[in-house]
Amino acid sequence: MISERAQSISPSLTLSITSTAKRLKREGRDVVNFGAGEPDFPTPENIKMAAVKAINENITYYTPTAGIEELRQAIAEKLRRYNGVSYDPSEIVVSCGGKHSLYNIMQVLLNPGDDGLLITPYWVSYLEQIKLAGAQPRLVQTDEENRIDIEELRRLITEKTRLLVLNSPSNPAGAVLSHSELKSIADLALEHGLWIVSDEVYEAFVYNGSKHISIASLSEEVKARTVISNAFSKTYSMTGWRIGYTASPREVAEAIARLQDHMTSNPTSIAQMAALEALKGPQTSVKNMVEAFDKRRRLMVSRLNEMKNVDCHMPRGAFYAFPSIQSTGLSSMQFSDRLLREALTAVVPGIAFGRDGNIRLSYAASTEEIERGMDRMERFCRSLG
Ligand code: GLU
Repeated sequence: MISERAQSISPSLTLSITSTAKRLKREGRDVVNFGAGEPDFPTPENIKMAAVKAINENITYYTPTAGIEELRQAIAEKLRRYNGVSYDPSEIVVSCGGKHSLYNIMQVLLNPGDDGLLITPYWVSYLEQIKLAGAQPRLVQTDEENRIDIEELRRLITEKTRLLVLNSPSNPAGAVLSHSELKSIADLALEHGLWIVSDEVYEAFVYNGSKHISIASLSEEVKARTVISNAFSKTYSMTGWRIGYTASPREVAEAIARLQDHMTSNPTSIAQMAALEALKGPQTSVKNMVEAFDKRRRLMVSRLNEMKNVDCHMPRGAFYAFPSIQSTGLSSMQFSDRLLREALTAVVPGIAFGRDGNIRLSYAASTEEIERGMDRMERFCRSLG
């Protein structure tokens, strides 16, 4: 018999749609894939070569569970230089991707019966990870421009509330929290003794002068209540390599490492060496990718806003457009299903992120793919009448 815990979990819609679109493509169907939450650029050559070197030099044995010392040092150095927040390498734990880091955080911070606050629209896996820790997700709604109402947040806090998940830049809305928004959230968290889980995996993807600020950099007090989660997947186009990390107070880091001791041991040694090169090597590939995404972002959003019954805010970060399709009268699931069947275009229904009136499209696709997919979706929306 399957445990109640496992039965209570839904499969990840982002992953299942991505793999359906990839399968259809392999079968020769001409699918345009806007489902994938992954950069379409190849992993940079220097990073791939570092992995080859690691294999040839036999870096193929267990490493410390929390990661190779040099990598933890390089991550601490990156956090200091890029995010303005100083951690000792012993406060960093390297895991098998950002999702694993986040899973670990929920496991070490939440007790059964606790509440975890999520800002809607939220990334699909936060919700299930909170449930897997035996806790309850509580949802904070945002307005149509994805702004958080602090008073609404305050109203949801009870003695059971343990943590609040932040994701800026956000998936799927592309919202980027300003210094003053972060400050109000941090003040509230400190006032109520909450943990702040800050998923910063899209930090490199900010456009048009928007700036990513790590909430832990606000003050030592805030840092002491924050656990940062990050990964190499998006910034260095390394989704398949599965390397993520947490930065947190030592007590939390030690608990995560203890948990990981019995789950995965270390993340892949070879991928860790590749991640080290990602941090130490040239950063031009990141800059080029972000510039390309910025152009694609503007192209996709302007095309979406020309469509009948579609309304899209300009995202300021990450690489997703999250238009409203409410006026079509279809649910996000119906819209996405029909768009894939009738127009061979894959998108993720907003219901996966707690917003049934929207769909998510990744603009991590080539300009030609975007044009082709937008032509198809435009025809599809017209056909709905
Ligand atoms: N974070 C990406 C997404 O939202 C990757 C897929 C996943 O793991 O959910 O599409």
